[in-house]
Amino acid sequence: GVNFKGLLKRNWLLIATVISVVLGIGLGVLVREYASLSNLDKQYFGFPGEILMRMLKLVILPLIISSMITGVAALDSEVSGKIGLWAVIYYFSTTIIAVILGIILVMTIKPGVSQTADNIDRTGTTPNVTTTDTLLDLVRNMFPENLVQACFQQYKTTRKELEPPKVSTNTTAIPPVTHAVMAVVENITKEYKIVGAYSDGINVLGIIVFCVTFGLVIGKMGEKGRILLEFFDALNEATMKLVQIIMCYMPVGILFLIAAKIIEVEDWEIFKKMGLYMVTVLSGLAIHATICLPLIFFIIVRKNPYTFTLGMAQALVTALMISSSSATLPVTFRCAEENNRIDKRITRFVLPVGATINMDGTALYEAVAAIFIAQLNDYPLDVGQIVTISITATVASIGAAGVPNAGLVTMVIVLTAVGLPASDVTLIVAVDWLLDRFRTMINVLGDAYGAGIVQKLSKRELERMDLTSDVDVANP
Ligand code: ASP
Repeated sequence: GVNFKGLLKRNWLLIATVISVVLGIGLGVLVREYASLSNLDKQYFGFPGEILMRMLKLVILPLIISSMITGVAALDSEVSGKIGLWAVIYYFSTTIIAVILGIILVMTIKPGVSQTADNIDRTGTTPNVTTTDTLLDLVRNMFPENLVQACFQQYKTTRKELEPPKVSTNTTAIPPVTHAVMAVVENITKEYKIVGAYSDGINVLGIIVFCVTFGLVIGKMGEKGRILLEFFDALNEATMKLVQIIMCYMPVGILFLIAAKIIEVEDWEIFKKMGLYMVTVLSGLAIHATICLPLIFFIIVRKNPYTFTLGMAQALVTALMISSSSATLPVTFRCAEENNRIDKRITRFVLPVGATINMDGTALYEAVAAIFIAQLNDYPLDVGQIVTISITATVASIGAAGVPNAGLVTMVIVLTAVGLPASDVTLIVAVDWLLDRFRTMINVLGDAYGAGIVQKLSKRELERMDLTSDVDVANP
């Protein structure tokens, strides 16, 4: 029979996390119903969750640096080139598939046709971003001018007029509804600052580019480079031990994170109004996660994709709870390496890049949202415009940082590209916190499948290296 005790023992963390999600939702609903908390109380309520987020973000930097450098240095440049190429091909093709799937769904379900834009409250002001600026900033950020600064500098664009609009924080005389709206606006303007390569004040893409180059150089240095390689390898292992400790705290943090969110949400009515739109996005994400990605995985890897998904469960729940691919990265690493047994040389190289640029969920969402907004406005789209939407949605997903609501901001690129008013992004703000969680989950799943697929595609090179190389960084 099934060994339940063993099953429990092996999966206690996952079980505890799922239980805490359920408890958190229950607690949130109860407090909402029976206690009237002041805004300050609400903040206190979310405190344990805030601490979890801080801890997860804390390990991102050492994790990315140590894993990218050792990941690249452990391979010879020919092999890392090949792996990089496969990864990029995978990222690009799955993102396009997600976009096409989204477009097909939104054109058949037509969630915006039965109502008009006037029926939905606009909640917020618009950030001002263009495709060119996003692309230029993306490339610009790949070359940080100061390595130390890249670790904590806030996003800054060189274009003066792109300064985010000022939002007044004087809230004393303002009624509660306006207060909620302002919170959203503030959120947008805050997130706006991180469009491009930035995640929580870290220039992730810049650091990745540096570490890849640095790792390649170290790998070529022979005996002298070995000291550095061993140093970063040890750093990586120590960081992963820290992650293990943080994960023990996870159930507690998540319980309060979700409870606080439920207490905080002001407008539940909007979910009825936007129901069909949400169904479209969510079913698209579900199809991508349960059919498209698994199918590609099965065709290439020839293993059960759903077992693979189950192995990632802890990371998926985390992503769902914290809406950030970057902050989930530590957990993604653990699941991919421990449960799915993906070669560390692959995960270290491929996962940090994936968390930053590979966002299937976000791409699908952006395409659906843009066409939904067009439908609301009775704005006809021709084939050329649909193609434009699919291209810009892909760019927008690459340009979005792995932090909460980033996709909402890069959305503006898609809208303006087809002549829709950028300000209409405010039509979908109110439900974004929920959709964000789900698309982030699919983003993370896509990264993990990518690691599995790239491992299979690079199998021959990796085996050849195992035979010839004496340095075994991946499995010391
Ligand atoms: N929150 C998403 C992520 O971290 C990005 C987005 O807003 O779409 O992957």
